[in-house]
Amino acid sequence: MTTTAPHHGPPCSAATCHRGLRDDELAAGQTLCSPCVHVIGVWLTAELPRQIIVLEGSRQRETTGASTGGRTAYRTAPLPGRDDVLNLLGPTAWSDGIRDPYGQAHADQHGAIPITGVLIPWARTICDERRWNPPATLTAQALGAWLARTAVLEYASRRPWAGNFRDELHELMRTIRAVTRLRPQRRPIPQPCPRCDSLTMIETDHQLYIDCTTCESMFTRDELALAARITAATLNTDAA
Ligand SMILES: [Zn+2]
Ligand SMILES: [Zn+2]
Repeated sequence: MTTTAPHHGPPCSAATCHRGLRDDELAAGQTLCSPCVHVIGVWLTAELPRQIIVLEGSRQRETTGASTGGRTAYRTAPLPGRDDVLNLLGPTAWSDGIRDPYGQAHADQHGAIPITGVLIPWARTICDERRWNPPATLTAQALGAWLARTAVLEYASRRPWAGNFRDELHELMRTIRAVTRLRPQRRPIPQPCPRCDSLTMIETDHQLYIDCTTCESMFTRDELALAARITAATLNTDAA
């Protein structure tokens, strides 16, 4: 049972988000809710650089060999995910970045797309629409930092394709985490989800918002405190 919906506006345009847009978000012309904008920034600036270090380290081990003794054993049994690592770190040309931002560009190609192959089409879409200069370098780190710039994220959050942007980055982060087996530190929150009632709420490093891993809703701490008070009030009424 849903005890309270945090907001009642039109839905956030991300398929993986269930929030309604607040008045201040609508007034700013956002199609993507502020928690989604925030989490994109966390992925691109806090998590992605760390994940790339792990991927680079993994590629390094596999290319040079960790030791000379016993190498033949490793030759015949490469580390799992080797192709995934190489694919993720592969280069992409700026000219390969033309895409329809409303289309599902990578829907059936997961695992084969480099990180830059996901980031460049978005950077290029934004540069083309705004007539901005492309980022100076086209590494995954530089592209992530560029896409997470305040002006870029503010612009993206108002576009009709903003939900696709968020959903694709979400899928990219899931793909990377599956390869590195490195996930942001998460801690359970002992409170039922205000939307789906599951006891599967978690808080994650660097993120302002609490996620429900069952229905993927996001909540601020204030919203959870409010939901807890409403639940308590409802229980008291039921008991009376
Ligand atoms: Zn959202
Ligand atoms: Zn939930």
